[in-house]
Amino acid sequence: MPLARGRQFLAIPGPTNVPLRILQALDRPPMDFTSPEFADVAEEVQMGLRRVFKTEHDIFIWASTGHGAWEAAIANFYSPDEKVLICETGAFSEWWLEMAGLFGLDAEYLPGDWRMGIDPAALEARLRADTGHEIKGIGIVHNETSTGLCNDLAALRKAIDAAGHPALLMVDTISSLGSMDFRMDEWGCDVVVGGSQKGLMQHTGLGLLGVSPKALARAENATGPRRYWDIRRSLQMPFHMRNPGTAPAHFFYGLKEAIKFLEEETLDGVFARHARLAEAVRRAVAEWSKGGAIDFYVKNADRRSNSVTAVEITGPVDSDAFRFACRDDFNVMLGGGLLQLGGKLFRIGHLGDLNEPMVWGTLAAIEATLKRKGVPHGPGGVDAAIAYLAG
Ligand code: PLP
Repeated sequence: MPLARGRQFLAIPGPTNVPLRILQALDRPPMDFTSPEFADVAEEVQMGLRRVFKTEHDIFIWASTGHGAWEAAIANFYSPDEKVLICETGAFSEWWLEMAGLFGLDAEYLPGDWRMGIDPAALEARLRADTGHEIKGIGIVHNETSTGLCNDLAALRKAIDAAGHPALLMVDTISSLGSMDFRMDEWGCDVVVGGSQKGLMQHTGLGLLGVSPKALARAENATGPRRYWDIRRSLQMPFHMRNPGTAPAHFFYGLKEAIKFLEEETLDGVFARHARLAEAVRRAVAEWSKGGAIDFYVKNADRRSNSVTAVEITGPVDSDAFRFACRDDFNVMLGGGLLQLGGKLFRIGHLGDLNEPMVWGTLAAIEATLKRKGVPHGPGGVDAAIAYLAG
């Protein structure tokens, strides 16, 4: 059990820390969600989210986890047996692929290296081979949270264009939105999946979906069953009535505050802060890796994520024993390895409401645990992070 003293450091890659001003915005009694007051807030949130997604198009919002938004992305735009191509990146691409199959789609996996990211040339080649344009949608996890790898969406978009392929581009931005640059319209994204609990600094509980006009046209004709996720029904309603059933109104107040918070720093400022803090984490890991038992999971250094770093550990303890020690001894929570990476790596979440001392504190707890557990590591990881952020 974690020690019940001091502040718990939530260094998992989501849910992230919810700042006090957002907690206060969320803290309100239930209200009449059909009221003009809520209508104003819902409209403000809609417009604000469009700025965060960098789109001029509609964003749909559900009371759900990110899995719900995935399901909405699959349920709305395809008819049974239509082919979608999901690009392999890690645990989250596996689960999205599984979901597409369960919905009766012909779900094909484009094989990929979890440590390197999606190869634009491989995507282009697969799309060129699809001369009959049977592939109706391409699913890409922008930032693969299970490995700490951020795919180059602009390059992948170029590959799709080079192949002249008309499939919808579906992008999961759950661990990049609001922490790393993402441009829905400029990068030609048709269906964009988001969630509330990472860069948007909320509790878990909202699934978000950005939808381009091209995707909307497919939604009109798709024959797959849908009710909760049906964007056609939602579109007939004003923004505050678009939720199927009762709107989770308090969340809209939280989102309104989160968007305000992000825009006070500016989105570019938010991305720059994430990049700086992530680089400090990488400097620490680079020092620790000199001992031989610790290393970056992602080998493609250019694609290491600014919101999460996955650290492989090859002994003498497995990564779960390591992170539980970090939790129990220092009250610092790290993420674990998912699927076949279970026990092999821990993940440092560095996204959301985060500053330098929070990063230093997390890194110091990790370095102390490396020492306590006798994990061979290079000294000076924390020093390198301090030197970088002090510079
Ligand atoms: N996609 C990515 C990239 C994620 O990181 C997550 C959750 O961490 C999900 C999808 C699923 O979201 P949720 O856990 O909210 O269902």
